[in-house]
Amino acid sequence: MEKPKLLVHVCCAPDGLYVIKILQENYYVSGYFYNPNIHPEEEYHLRLQETKKIAEILNFDLIEGEYDLEKWFEMIRGFENEPEKGRRCDICYAIRLNRTAEIAKNENFDIFTTTLTLSPWKKAKKINQIGRMLGKKYKITFLEADFKKKDGFKKSVELSKEFNLYRQNYCGCIYSRRKG
Ligand code: SF4
Repeated sequence: MEKPKLLVHVCCAPDGLYVIKILQENYYVSGYFYNPNIHPEEEYHLRLQETKKIAEILNFDLIEGEYDLEKWFEMIRGFENEPEKGRRCDICYAIRLNRTAEIAKNENFDIFTTTLTLSPWKKAKKINQIGRMLGKKYKITFLEADFKKKDGFKKSVELSKEFNLYRQNYCGCIYSRRKG
């Protein structure tokens, strides 16, 4: 039986490497790099380049999203001073997942998900709630997960070291960078 086609939103190479490696056991995986939150632009390109590296290592198709930073700033306006894991982050998850669900639907994938829950600094419950809601909106299944479980984060750090991947020291946006 053919494996279902899964589109995975990839936030960065270290998270993508661990998560996609696991998912390839049961799915035919493609990656989607859509992260207009990343600041500054050089950092965006660095994370994209590293993600291209893991697409080669694991041999999956990588779709590049738009770097629509202005739209991202517009969407989070009013929440600039929220702490990490606050409401700005909920909007940021939703922006990225919404576009992933849209692409997954338009490109005839069976399922979509994200690597975001691997990070101990992100709220898996909220991410899964948003994913479920978008799955209903676009009529496509969202794969719920919490990839940090079973030592997922620790294993991803080890794996990214093995492949000499760049690991950022802040989440992505300008506000997380100030604190990073
Ligand atoms: S801290 Fe991370 S998740 Fe939160 S808004 Fe910034 S980039 Fe997005």
